[in-house]
Amino acid sequence: MVKPSEPEFEQAYNELVSTLKDSTLFQKHPKYQKVIDVVSVPERIVQFRVAWENDKGEIQINNGFRVQFNSALGPYKGGLRLHPSVNLSILKFLGFEQIFKNALTGLNIGGGKGGSDFDPKGKSDNEIRRFCYAFMKELAVGGFLGENRDVPAGDIGTGAREVGFLFGAYKSYTKSWEGVLTGKGLTWGGSLIRPEATGYGLVYYTEQQIKYATKGKEDFTGKRVAISGSGNVAQYAALKVIELGGTVVSLSDSKGAIISETGITKEHIFSIQEAKIKFKSLKDIINEYSAFSSSPVKYIDGARPWIHVGQVDVALPSATQNEISGEEAKALVAAGVKYVAEGSNMGSTQEAIDVFEGERVATKSASSPAVWYGPGKASNAGGVLVSALEMAQNSQRLTWTTEQVDDELKKRMIELFNQSIKFATEYSNETNKESLPSLVKGANLAGFVKVADAMFDHGDVY
Ligand code: GLU
Repeated sequence: MVKPSEPEFEQAYNELVSTLKDSTLFQKHPKYQKVIDVVSVPERIVQFRVAWENDKGEIQINNGFRVQFNSALGPYKGGLRLHPSVNLSILKFLGFEQIFKNALTGLNIGGGKGGSDFDPKGKSDNEIRRFCYAFMKELAVGGFLGENRDVPAGDIGTGAREVGFLFGAYKSYTKSWEGVLTGKGLTWGGSLIRPEATGYGLVYYTEQQIKYATKGKEDFTGKRVAISGSGNVAQYAALKVIELGGTVVSLSDSKGAIISETGITKEHIFSIQEAKIKFKSLKDIINEYSAFSSSPVKYIDGARPWIHVGQVDVALPSATQNEISGEEAKALVAAGVKYVAEGSNMGSTQEAIDVFEGERVATKSASSPAVWYGPGKASNAGGVLVSALEMAQNSQRLTWTTEQVDDELKKRMIELFNQSIKFATEYSNETNKESLPSLVKGANLAGFVKVADAMFDHGDVY
């Protein structure tokens, strides 16, 4: 077998294309086949050297990237990932996913992604600031960004602090105060609910899965929910699950997992929020913070949570790509999981998706689902969705209220879910009419058709 040269990108590409082919789209409308070759090549990739100075006065070198994948629906939009694993394959997969995710939000945003192999862990605030200024200089001076051109945001390793430094750098290099980044501070153009948006949106989406499958009879009340990760997405997903009456049985980081049969508490999560900004590991947090001495949890070194969570109803992978293997998916199925929705991008390996989708198709009746899988490009779209609302507020020079933004987020997550159902049903080639519609096919179809139609209109494809 030929080894893929861009494994993550090829995985994301194959996942999309295989689901489109496994529907009646190309039979009904053959013209859409021509779009694949065009949409799968980025419009532009900017790759550059980032030279910054550490606290000892020494020069440090990292690779910087911005993948401007598709601008059919609006300015390039997507986060910046700062993590040692970052390479072009990872950013191309993320940018590719982002095109269709952004289309699903129903708002006018194209798809992009960027970042660097810089590792913020263990760096001082001054080092992070110097890195951010050096990174932004290439993009800002090069003229690659702008509120109508390309609007980056956060992702793994890029939070409020980094967005602040990047914004300051853009402003000083271009002499322009504009909504060129999202996830900004609340006093200087940020949107309320943006920090919460991905996690909240994920839970709103999953709530629709539960309600649809049970015909409105069930919701999060009493559900046991396994979550991975402990960053921004996992934190707010966990808080929303607790608010809605569910029990969060796990969280994790790159070093290990915490498990609680009785439920991780809000106080646990507040401590994690405080400590993670200082790059503390869960292992240290549970030893140092009083919330964990008054209400202890189990720590499992070097493990992901999935095979350790016990009986669960819902799984919300919210750490990073490929964080559920085929074996772990089988373990979750054996643990009783009924709903899976990704807070991470491409959280499930193809093998895991095949396990979940196989269970769905085998379902005898829609009202008693085996497993219903929601892909990240739909279920985690809440973050970029509120980013687009932040852009709208910046254009208006106005700030909306918490209720306004949260209502809009919820309404649009429901609409996005319904679109996935509609497209999955309209283009279904499945023989078992009793099973629930495929949310992965539905999301891919709905996102792809919207982008493709705009590309035809623009003459990008003919
Ligand atoms: N990084 C987030 C994502 O994967 C948010 C992007 C944004 O807000 O532009 O969708």
